[in-house]
Parts: sequence; C-alpha cells; structure tokens
Amino acid sequence: MRAITITRDGTGPELRERPLPSPDEGEVLVRTLRVGVDGTDREVVAGEHGDLPAGEDDLVLGHEAVGVVADANGTALPEGTVVAPTVRRPPNGTNEYFERGEPDMAPEGEYLERGIVGAHGYMAEYFTSPPEYLVALPRALAEWGFLVEQASITEKALSTAYASRSTFTWEPESALVLGNGSLGLLSLAMLDDRVERTYCLGRRERPDPTIDFIEDLGATYVDSRTTPVPEIPKTYEGMDLVYEATGYAKHAFETIETLAPNGVGALVGVPGDWTFEVDGGRLHRELVLHNKALVGTVNSNRDHFERAVETLSSLPEGVLDALVTHVVPPEEYDRAFADDDTALKTAIEFDTL
Ligand code: NDP
Ligand code: ZN
Repeated sequence: MRAITITRDGTGPELRERPLPSPDEGEVLVRTLRVGVDGTDREVVAGEHGDLPAGEDDLVLGHEAVGVVADANGTALPEGTVVAPTVRRPPNGTNEYFERGEPDMAPEGEYLERGIVGAHGYMAEYFTSPPEYLVALPRALAEWGFLVEQASITEKALSTAYASRSTFTWEPESALVLGNGSLGLLSLAMLDDRVERTYCLGRRERPDPTIDFIEDLGATYVDSRTTPVPEIPKTYEGMDLVYEATGYAKHAFETIETLAPNGVGALVGVPGDWTFEVDGGRLHRELVLHNKALVGTVNSNRDHFERAVETLSSLPEGVLDALVTHVVPPEEYDRAFADDDTALKTAIEFDTL
C-alpha cells in the first residue's frame, strides 16, 4: 500500500510502498479516507518535533484522520463504520493515564503519539487500531472527519477554560481567537454558537482567504500589526474568553491584558524558547484583582473527540467546505506540506466512502 513517510536519515516526506498492516487480535483494519495536515506535521517533517518508532527506519506521518472499518477482525466494531482515530497510545502495554481514559493528561514518556512521537501515523491506505481508540462518526461527516482531531483540541481547551469559571456565574459574550491558522479558524467557527461577538487575530493584508473566512462567519478580523493584543480592549472590547492558537509566546502574557474582568485565556500554542521582558508585577496584579485565569492545554481524549463530532455536525452548512480549501491525492503530498497562504486547511485523500 502507499504511505507518506519520513526516514531516519532525514529524507522525506515521500510516497513509499509499505506492506498492508495486518490487525493483531483485538484490533481492526481501517481503510483511510482523508488525513489532514497541520503545523505539527510540518514540524515533524522538519525534524523539530517527534521521533521515529524505536528500532525502525521510517515513520508514517499523519495524526488527523478519518477512515472506514474494513475488517472488524472479530471485534464488536462493525465493518463500514466511519471512524476518527485518537492520537496517543501507551508506550508499554498501558499505564494509569490510559486506564483512566485520560491519556491527554499523561506526562512526556508516558505516551506515544501516532504520526508524531514513536508510532506510525495514518497517512497510508490502511492502518490498524484497537477499537477503543476509534470514535464513530455519522456517515454524513465522513468527508470532514479528519477535522475531528483538531476540533477535539478545542473541545478540551474550552471545557478546561469553562471549568475554571464554573465557581461563579459566567456568561461569556465576547471571544477572541489569536491566530488564523487552521486551528484558529476551526476554533473560531466552533465558538460562533457559544458567544455573541467573536474576533480573530492575524497579521495578514487583505485580500486574504483567512480574512474572508473570518468575516463570512460574522467575526471581526484584528490585525496584530495595527492593533497589538494589549490594545484590543481599547479599540474593541475586553474579551471574556481568549483562545490562543498562534504559538507566539508574547501572546500568552498579552492575553492577560486583553481579557475582561473575570475572563479566561486558553493557551494551546507551542512556542520555542524565547527570552523577553514582561511587567510581571502588573500581569500578576491583573490576574488577581480581576479574577482572571490562564489555562494551558494539550492533546485530547475520547470524550473530547465525541464532543467534537457533535460540534462539527452542528456547524452551519458550508463552513467546513469553506475551511477545507485543498484536498490532494497522495501523489501530490508535496502540495499538502507546502507553506501556502491560499490554503486554510489541507487534506490528503487516499480513498472515498
Ligand atoms: P499555524 O502555524 O498554521 O497557525 C498559526 C497562525 O498564527 C498563523 O496563521 C500565523 O499567521 C498566526 N500568527 C503567528 N504569530 C502571529 C502574530 N504575532 N500576530 C498575528 N498572527 C500570528 O498553526 P496551527 O493553526 O496548526 O496551530 C496553532 C498552534 O497550536 C501552533 O502553535 C501549534 O503548535 C499548536 N497546537 C497545539 C495543540 C495542543 O494540543 N496544545 C494541538 C495542535 C496544534 P501567518 O500564517 O500569517 O504567519
Ligand atoms: Zn495536529
């Protein structure tokens, strides 16, 4: 079968022939439909993040997938079920985080991530998995099912943020998404239903397809070059909720200043090291005197996947179609990994339902 891989000697991505995987006892065989590409995949390709499976020479890429069960292999998951796989797997059998159904809370070393850290991903015509790591989707969502993983990141971030505001009456009316990458744009669409006024921050000139997407949703585009994050309350309004998805480290601190009293900022960006000055006293005081919270969250678990399926199913028609601008066949994988400002979200299509 065809698979998109990187190799230990640093070559790739490339399209290679690999043997068809055969499901072990308790596993099913999944025929891959589509696999999304995001910034993490590009970091893995660049050698900045992740690792190959121990003792192997290549890594099958891809962690955002949708497929259809091709061989139930004696399990209870029926053939023909459309599924999205979760990402984390236990490194040695199992551990307490996986037993609790909270692999997303496992510290480094206590998990592998398929397509990223130490385990093959889903960019291949077929993959195998135990059914407990596969979340069933309605067939109507099959084309967009590769977005469930990304949406699950936002479900977890939002539920963590809301939980931090659950000790008092909190009815957020305004939300700001920092970042107009694929995660930011999908999250903006997911927030539309939860708050009255939404904003999304980028650093691009018009005309730009991300700005069109933002405005078609009815959200306000904020250009960080003309309105830096700390000035947003003066120019627009203080935000009840901020969802940071730029990975731009200063935004973590500037979020405190753009929050309205009693607001919460959910941080999901993953920056590299960067030393800079902040007025720690002012930010500390802001957090305390205005009951603000910042939460950092990573990865997601099965519950978040299930919620993501519901949220994606309930989005207004056309939103996902507008977000997924590029769907390419496996032979054109280099287009999927290219840095392309006309692409909002790209998927590689291995097969159709
Ligand atoms: P992208 O790199 O595609 O998106 C980041 C966006 O932020 C880009 O569109 C970029 O604009 C914009 N941006 C960066 N800096 C600024 C700035 N100073 N002002 C305005 N806009 C800015 O990444 P993704 O959407 O895939 O992911 C977002 C972040 O979330 C990344 O850091 C990623 O690593 C992280 N992530 C975290 C996960 C978790 O579990 N916590 C899971 C998945 C991703 P431009 O394109 O114009 O440069
Ligand atoms: Zn991802």
